[in-house]
Amino acid sequence: MNVEIICVGTEILLGNIVNTNAAYMAEKISEAGLSCYYQSVVGDNEERLLESIKTARKRSDIIILCGGLGPTEDDLTKETAAKSYGRKLIMDEESRLHIEQYFAKKGTQPTENNWKQALVPEGGRAIFNPNGTAPGIIMEEKDARLILLPGPPSELIPMFENDIFPYLKELTPGVILSKTVKICGIGESKVETMIADLIDAQSNPTIATYAKIGEVHIRVTASGEDKKAARKLVKPIIQELKDRFGNYIYTTDESETLEQSVVDLLLANKLTVSCAESCTGGMLSSRLINVPGVSDVYKSGFITYSNKSKRKLLGVRKSVIDKYGAISAEAARDMAKGLAGVTKADVCVSVTGNAGPDASEDKPVGLVYIGCCIKGRVSVTEARFSGNRNKIRESATAAALSFVRNNVLEYYSRITFGTDEDN
Ligand code: ATP
Ligand code: MG
Repeated sequence: MNVEIICVGTEILLGNIVNTNAAYMAEKISEAGLSCYYQSVVGDNEERLLESIKTARKRSDIIILCGGLGPTEDDLTKETAAKSYGRKLIMDEESRLHIEQYFAKKGTQPTENNWKQALVPEGGRAIFNPNGTAPGIIMEEKDARLILLPGPPSELIPMFENDIFPYLKELTPGVILSKTVKICGIGESKVETMIADLIDAQSNPTIATYAKIGEVHIRVTASGEDKKAARKLVKPIIQELKDRFGNYIYTTDESETLEQSVVDLLLANKLTVSCAESCTGGMLSSRLINVPGVSDVYKSGFITYSNKSKRKLLGVRKSVIDKYGAISAEAARDMAKGLAGVTKADVCVSVTGNAGPDASEDKPVGLVYIGCCIKGRVSVTEARFSGNRNKIRESATAAALSFVRNNVLEYYSRITFGTDEDN
């Protein structure tokens, strides 16, 4: 079965908003084991929307229309979908009641046009929207099933998770099983090159890579008669990925984050950690401290943004700053070493770099140095990131987590991973 996504909204066509709904839904559709061959965007225009639905009905089994379910004049998705199938709009009592209660709870009155949101095309089914007033709608028409969803992501995503994803999964024959392998320390293109043969040969399971900031995820999805059959198909591919990527894989657990794996590694080796951050301004500490249980490993964090604070709090040598600048491997080394002296943590991480937008000390935007001192031994890495200030800071933070992980692994090669028996 194949699903087609049509997002409705002139705002998207004009580039005023980014079509994140399409990206989110496409990923979920593939996770549900269905194919998505077409995605399009149409403005708030009845004629063109009718045309899009007409085309989609011919070539797709399921059409998802998102946006334009609101109360205003330009919200015309539902009316147009009903028109395309020649269906009348009928008041859905439950949705009407929900709108009444929704406004009562807020202590405000619905306006006349709010009631139009409770209209559902004849034969259609309303999907409860706990985060807004427009219900989703499923129309099980003969040539193609139609799913209508509200545009705001805060309404669409929960509705998709709770109702639409399970509905789509029901339509796929057999069982779909997905497993994610999370990799850090190598870029997406290298990862793709290393598995090009597997991607070329894929059919069932399918293999897809997703680039995240500072990490790459590989999702392996198999469909089988039952869970056991699907697992049997996924297992050898996961093993193959483990053989190829080794320690670059930080987890095969869907919910585990990079910072969590770092904290687990520190805990397993009974190591404490401290951070000295310049351009990341606390992001590294923040990610680590987000992990429950970090109190057993985390000691201190310093944001040493100015050269003076680098010298005063961490003892970075003036000669180093004068000769190499604060954005240098030598400064990162001094920061990590100084931090170890001050906090006595087993692992001391330092980050210094230029997050932009302008060159600083004649160093290019995106140049970052990360230092890691483990029990007196310091290593430093240089990295270059692109993007805006925030993206560079996030990339530097992720790289620092990877660097700590690699250094600890090198120092104590006591890691085991992929212990969950599903693999
Ligand atoms: P509303 O009741 O808010 O009018 P709606 O279902 O009519 O909801 P739209 O009017 O199309 O939806 O969009 C409302 C808002 O939802 C947009 O301003 C935008 O912020 C967000 N939105 C809509 N479509 C998308 C999309 N494809 N991707 C991301 N955000 C979107
Ligand atoms: Mg709207």
